Amino acid sequence: MAAALMDRPVVVVGAGIGGLTAALALARRGAAVTVLERAAELSEVGAGIQLSANSVRVLEALGLSDAMDQCSLRNRAVHLRDASGASVLRMDLLAHRPQARFLLIHRARLIAVLAQAATAAGVRILTGQDVTAPPDAPLVIGADGLKSRIRAALNGQEVPFFTGQTAWRALIAEDAAAQPEAQVFMGRDRHLVSYPLAVGLRNIVAVQERRDWQDEGWSHPDDPANLQAAFAGFGGPVPGWLSAVRQVNVWGLFRHQVAARWHDNRCAILGDAAHPTLPFLAQGAGMAVEDAWVLAACLDADGDQAAALARYQAARQPRVTRIVEAANANARNYHLGGLKRVVGHGVLRLAGRVAPSFMPGRFDWLYDHDPVAQHP
Ligand SMILES: Cc1cc2nc3c(=O)[nH]c(=O)nc-3n(C[C@H](O)[C@H](O)[C@H](O)COP(=O)(O)OP(=O)(O)OC[C@H]3O[C@@H](n4cnc5c(N)ncnc54)[C@H](O)[C@@H]3O)c2cc1C
Repeated sequence: MAAALMDRPVVVVGAGIGGLTAALALARRGAAVTVLERAAELSEVGAGIQLSANSVRVLEALGLSDAMDQCSLRNRAVHLRDASGASVLRMDLLAHRPQARFLLIHRARLIAVLAQAATAAGVRILTGQDVTAPPDAPLVIGADGLKSRIRAALNGQEVPFFTGQTAWRALIAEDAAAQPEAQVFMGRDRHLVSYPLAVGLRNIVAVQERRDWQDEGWSHPDDPANLQAAFAGFGGPVPGWLSAVRQVNVWGLFRHQVAARWHDNRCAILGDAAHPTLPFLAQGAGMAVEDAWVLAACLDADGDQAAALARYQAARQPRVTRIVEAANANARNYHLGGLKRVVGHGVLRLAGRVAPSFMPGRFDWLYDHDPVAQHP
């Protein structure tokens, strides 16, 4: 391992998944890291998250395998079903890639694992710090999420556009015997994703195309009756799940450009600060984790900070742009109606029968990617 980071002071803005992973990766390479977090304490929204093999490889390289095993489930499959509940295609992740690890985890547990490891590695995490402009430090990492001030300092203010899609998220109780797989129920103009978590909970995310405008935050409460009404025609386990929802949050989905400028000579951005994505490929946090590893590796390999930051952007921008575009395309594919839906689902069913590896194999470029091997 190179050593250009040894004893170098670094300030990370934001203690989300990306910021904490970066802090840990930098500290493991010898940097003296301080994290500034706006919230009064480290906390996370009550929601689950899927981590695919590409990002799990980074967490394993950071020494978190045992801690992750204790609080996550291994995701075996992504099961596409139509609105009635009938199976369209079950993509068996275990059969396709037996060695690759896909995990289902509560966000708060992931944050706790990362924060504990970062603190043990010497990272100072300061809460209650609302950073309004890049701090005065020789190296600043902006991991301050969707409305990043560090991105704005590098690129100017961005104006995202409303996609006309509204999302709900909810957690319900789940019994321990639930299949550890992600299920996607696809209806006209709407879909619902659900999977169990290791802590006796089931995560539900539901998306409906709706013209009325919704704010972009994550934490606006809604009446569970609105979610139940929007998915009233759905079958299979969906009605039972939705009748168990007691608390739900709603927000609007916005499309953002991948930032043009990820760094100057002193500051760099990662994760949602650089490339917010729609949630239809479950890769936002995964990309933040990959960014964090690659950024630390680039900085460690080259004492010329400006050159290292340029190499980081060049390594990451094409991949995240491809992922963001693939997530945009999934939004369309999930919400087919009429003839397109009959044909589309028919093709998927056929593909699942005659070539079971075809569909999971379409995402090999995403899940087989190994940031650790590429940037040791
Ligand atoms: C419904 C939904 C489902 C999703 N599911 C998945 C999934 O299954 N898998 C997946 O990989 N991704 C998923 N994502 C995406 C993922 O949640 C995000 O991409 C990820 O959280 C981004 O991490 P981040 O660290 O870049 O930003 P954030 O998690 O937003 O963290 C930013 C941090 O910076 C802090 N901060 C902000 N401003 C300031 C400031 N001015 N000063 C100091 N601190 C500040 C915030 O408080 C926060 O702690 C999902 C997203 C949604 C909406």
